[in-house]
Amino acid sequence: VFLLFGGFASIFIVAMIMRQSRKRLSPLSELQIAVRKREFIVHYQPIVELATGNCVGAEALVRWKRPDGSLVRPDLFIPLAEQSGLIQPITDQVIDAVARDLNELLVQYRSVHVTINVCAEDIKSGRILEAVAARIGRTGIENRQIWLEATERGLLDIEEASRTIEEARTRGHKVAIDDFGTGYSSLQYLQNLPLDTLKIDKSFINTINRQSATSSVVPHIIDMAKALNLSVVAEGVETVEQAEYLIEHGVEYGQGWHYGKPMPADIFIAYLYENMKRRRADVIPLRRLN
Ligand code: C2E
Ligand code: MG
Ligand code: MG
Ligand code: MG
Repeated sequence: VFLLFGGFASIFIVAMIMRQSRKRLSPLSELQIAVRKREFIVHYQPIVELATGNCVGAEALVRWKRPDGSLVRPDLFIPLAEQSGLIQPITDQVIDAVARDLNELLVQYRSVHVTINVCAEDIKSGRILEAVAARIGRTGIENRQIWLEATERGLLDIEEASRTIEEARTRGHKVAIDDFGTGYSSLQYLQNLPLDTLKIDKSFINTINRQSATSSVVPHIIDMAKALNLSVVAEGVETVEQAEYLIEHGVEYGQGWHYGKPMPADIFIAYLYENMKRRRADVIPLRRLN
């Protein structure tokens, strides 16, 4: 009995010491360990066609799953990851997760896409294309089902960005500019980048239905996107009023809590099946009329 107790006690003490030592690590060392232990998982947020509510795809959003099961939001570690060069292995884990989580779903529904957030360095170097090819190439997923999104920061060097975007599109991917309106982009270079999609930042969508001067900016962003032949996704759609406003102003796609929060893969897959079923159910009453 004493031996048994001693065994438990020492395991307990060792566990305590390990916890203590992990606590004392710098944020960077913690992140390095997390990368090595592959602690990054992906949640998926639906992107819908506003007029119909049909889900057309999802954004892959990374979360750091700590050993205690808690999830750390990307805002709290992406900046450090970008500064320290850890963002590349994290991006690779995101692509691996997409390939693993959604392979079956994406093979079944060819019209559905997943969009991946790409950091500035990966756009500049074009590394992202090989990372995607190496991880998606072996699956049943088609290149046109993988979209890439970069913030304006990622597109600042127009020549390098153009090269990567052109090559991405040659391979069948689509490319979006993320958080549009929050960066420093000039219309000059936006016009010169071969983009497919513009995502209006949620800070602008937020102002819709509020007595705020910036709300008047949204229609102009939409007009500009149309002039540049870009499809538009509104981020952060939280209310039915916002959705109606966006539909009235000709925005085709939206993403936000009104439609669904980012969710674990199995929940998103169930969501998409429901969404597809509802779509088919919509057709039946019409047929019954005859
Ligand atoms: P983002 O790419 O602009 O992603 C949209 C963010 O808005 C997500 O935050 C999402 O949860 C949140 N959001 C969506 N709908 C709503 C809404 O209706 N209301 C509000 N208040 N928020 C909404 P999240 O998941 O915390 O991600 C934050 C940012 O972290 C992302 O912004 C993106 O820039 C970055 N990020 C996420 N995953 C990755 C990744 O795999 N790689 C890289 N490089 N960055 C990532
Ligand atoms: Mg994004
Ligand atoms: Mg965004
Ligand atoms: Mg945003």
